[in-house]
Amino acid sequence: MNRLDHRDPLVFDTHELGRRPGAMRKVSRTLEAPEGFGIIDVIGVPEKSPIELELRLESVVEGVLVTGTAEAHVEGECVRCLEPVEFDVDVDFQELYYYPESDERHRARTTGTEDLDEDSEEETYRLEGDFFDLRPVLRDAVVLALPLQPVCQEDCLGLCSECGARLSDDPAHHHDAVDPRWAALQGLSADSGDEARGEAADLRRGIKNSDTREGLAENQEK
Ligand SMILES: [Zn+2]
Ligand SMILES: [Zn+2]
Repeated sequence: MNRLDHRDPLVFDTHELGRRPGAMRKVSRTLEAPEGFGIIDVIGVPEKSPIELELRLESVVEGVLVTGTAEAHVEGECVRCLEPVEFDVDVDFQELYYYPESDERHRARTTGTEDLDEDSEEETYRLEGDFFDLRPVLRDAVVLALPLQPVCQEDCLGLCSECGARLSDDPAHHHDAVDPRWAALQGLSADSGDEARGEAADLRRGIKNSDTREGLAENQEK
């Protein structure tokens, strides 16, 4: 078992709480974000940016119940137009850290989850001596609060599939007199002529049903 580093800002000491059920203590702490608090290459909390924590530690029969909130700044990239996206998140979390010698690992939580299978993916956390590691709990809470597909604005039009221009900056953007739906396809077909036109029409129907061309599909709905 890894020993907790007591100087780690995500490791907390419950010693002052004692082990009298009902005892409660509040802790506030601002710390630098560790790496890995986010979705790789999409969005996350920049390493070393501040995270503000407010915790309530409560002694219960089986261990210490930790309830908290965290405020952090996240940065990422719009999945449609690649512009930077940034905002603050406010997350809540709650976890019971069992006493080291506690045997209650499989007992249902106090919140009415009796039906949970023993092999469910729910993890059990434990105190190590008087200390607990908030890192996995906080990381999960932050990651769950992040959008899987961040956008710079709800109606972001994405990029022109022909030239890469950002369409929200220039909604009237088009290329010559060609229907923009066709313009997108010209680059896909090397040859010209009737045969290529037929292929393009097939492609066009395919694109209408394709998730990967979200931006284009939205333009077509107009
Ligand atoms: Zn965008
Ligand atoms: Zn263009």
